Amino acid sequence: MKNIESQNIPKLDGNFDKDLLQKAAKEFGTPLYVYDLDRIQEKYEQIKAAFGGRKTMICYALKANSNLSVIKKLASLESGADCVSLGEIQRAILAGIPKYKIIYSGVGKQEFEIKEALKYGILFINVESKEEMLLVEACAKELGISARISVRVNPDIDPQTHPYISTGLKENKFGVSIEEAKALYLLAHNSKYLEPVGIHFHIGSQLTKLKPIAESAQKIAQLTHSLLALKMDIKFFDVGGGIGITYSDEVTIKPYDYAQVILEELRGLDLTIICEPGRFIVGNSGIFLTKVLYQKEHQNKRFVIVDGAMNDLIRPSLYNAYHQIVPFVESQDVSPTDVVGPICESGDYLGKNISLPILQNGDLLAVLSAGAYGFSMASNYNTRPRCAEVAIEAKKMRLIRKRESIEDLIALEKDYL
Ligand SMILES: *Cc1c(COP(=O)(O)O)cnc(C)c1O
Repeated sequence: MKNIESQNIPKLDGNFDKDLLQKAAKEFGTPLYVYDLDRIQEKYEQIKAAFGGRKTMICYALKANSNLSVIKKLASLESGADCVSLGEIQRAILAGIPKYKIIYSGVGKQEFEIKEALKYGILFINVESKEEMLLVEACAKELGISARISVRVNPDIDPQTHPYISTGLKENKFGVSIEEAKALYLLAHNSKYLEPVGIHFHIGSQLTKLKPIAESAQKIAQLTHSLLALKMDIKFFDVGGGIGITYSDEVTIKPYDYAQVILEELRGLDLTIICEPGRFIVGNSGIFLTKVLYQKEHQNKRFVIVDGAMNDLIRPSLYNAYHQIVPFVESQDVSPTDVVGPICESGDYLGKNISLPILQNGDLLAVLSAGAYGFSMASNYNTRPRCAEVAIEAKKMRLIRKRESIEDLIALEKDYL
């Protein structure tokens, strides 16, 4: 056991009060996601305020955390939604986001999804290829309407983030090149059934540097100038999402600085800015609670086996992502520990070499910064029911998603036996 400096020991703060979390674990069981809705509000307001008086629309990216109560909270703050499937559009509508504040993005939209989106009358569809644009045009023609679209432009900028979450390089599958975008805008401009109203880029997630964002905004602003010169009525400049958060000690982008670099590039352009933050709003606003089941040591390595696993929180396994793990017992006497789940994969871990004190079986651990891409990426691997979700607001806690049952898991199969 070695002593580490106390300031290195991560802490639970805000609405994440230990007594309340103990109570949540007792009432709803573990593993469990807990979200601080007040912090979600704070984060939304930070990004909104950063753009000051400029015409701005924050379209929360649902895929980061698509729990209906989380979306409803954001809807109450007048947020819009960035959706990547028909299911997400339906969630947004159900949670109270007005249709005219919904954007539909994604590289593989299907015909039935496009038609539904057009019938809903959402703000616009972000098209990602010529083929997709032609399909949107055909759908609009069939419905006898004109489809509002924007083109996702790939600025070919290295976002300097994890390769799995970079999207704005020419080797990534997203969007079209600046050259192709011009051709697509001309095509749309000349179509009776397409109305190009926006321009869009999104270069990656967990961005911690401003320069790639500034460079992308500059390239896309130039393209916008040339489209406006051709008398196209572009109204929305959609800068995507991607603002990074602090998981351990990353120094990341401040909302004010972020807004400033974008506003700088937009000088002389009177457009509504759309920003699609996901992780920034919910990432640090959620924790994942798990319970110690067993402990063992072999080859001088200490393992703590917990009831939470990679099916609940896949980021460590998928991206080798780091999450702080906070014990509920307070002690300075810690040793490096691997926190692993019960799933039959060596990649099933929540943390490696995490400094943890002596624990008792049954003790709780809080995995921090688990509000984004946590539950929304959860699966039923190993026939594990997905866990419950709880919200805390003004120190009050409530269940916002029931724990799944085995019955739920087999419901769609058992009739075929
Ligand atoms: C995933 C995604 C976002 C949100 O990304 P974050 O890193 O969570 O902010 C925004 N826009 C689009 C198009 C996306 O695919």
